[in-house]
Amino acid sequence: MKQTCVLSAAALVCFCGCAPHHGSPSQEGVTVFVSILPQKYFVDRISGGLVTCLVMVPPGTNEHSYEPHPAQMSLLSHAKAYFAIGLEFEGPWIPKFASMAKGIRMVHTDSLVEKIASTDADEPRSAPSSESGRPAAGLDPHIWLSPALVRQQAATIAAALEEIDTLHAAAYRANFVSFLRGIDSLDRRLRAILRCDSGEGVARRKTFLVFHPTWGYFAKDYCLRQVAIEVEGKEPSPRMMKSILDTARFYKIRTVFVQPEFSRTSAEVIAHEIGAGVLDADALAYDWKDNLLYVAQKIAEQ
Ligand code: ZN
Repeated sequence: MKQTCVLSAAALVCFCGCAPHHGSPSQEGVTVFVSILPQKYFVDRISGGLVTCLVMVPPGTNEHSYEPHPAQMSLLSHAKAYFAIGLEFEGPWIPKFASMAKGIRMVHTDSLVEKIASTDADEPRSAPSSESGRPAAGLDPHIWLSPALVRQQAATIAAALEEIDTLHAAAYRANFVSFLRGIDSLDRRLRAILRCDSGEGVARRKTFLVFHPTWGYFAKDYCLRQVAIEVEGKEPSPRMMKSILDTARFYKIRTVFVQPEFSRTSAEVIAHEIGAGVLDADALAYDWKDNLLYVAQKIAEQ
């Protein structure tokens, strides 16, 4: 189910009032925070509704440069845990969250994840990220878009929920096991859609063009090659544009994917030049599973 809240001056109203997805801190049950909406999907699957999960970055907002609102800081005091994912904005804010909300547990869900460099989706460059909560420079933070990496994040979330709410530990464990089965089934479906179930798929990796380089892990896992228009968070220079156009023509790109939170300008210029269409590929949709299937289908069709 896709979140439809529009970012506006009322972002916080949306944040607090989009029940049941966003919910509000319950008086008795356990409340936790996550950074982005797909993480809420993971927590909801594992908690089976026993936990109220609030989301820090409202729908439609850039996930890299978010500035938490003071009202969110006060909501944090109700939370038992903050599930960080290693996004840049978390670095300076996590220590503030910890000092504002006494007793909140900071859980780094990227602690088991081996990240790749932002610019190269093929080469692992790091050891598992540190537990300090500081994202390592130059590493791709979009780890929620790889089912294999979500297995690892889910393990960290499940272990934390079991410790925080021991009364329901067995339920969290059972839901976690069932979520893992769901991820395995999703993985098989994605491999089938993208024809990535054999060595052949890897040999003829399909190339797709995106504005913001969100899909590096997804590309690495599913026999794809991601070409990004955005360079180090900026619109490309004329020289870079030419090189991207040459690449797009070489691979006969039919679709340029954009993320709703980012500029469409360069994507539209490139699409026009090569006679391609522009299509939204949402990286922050709540319904993580259906969204990955949708994006895979669109890439397969192009
Ligand atoms: Zn991003």
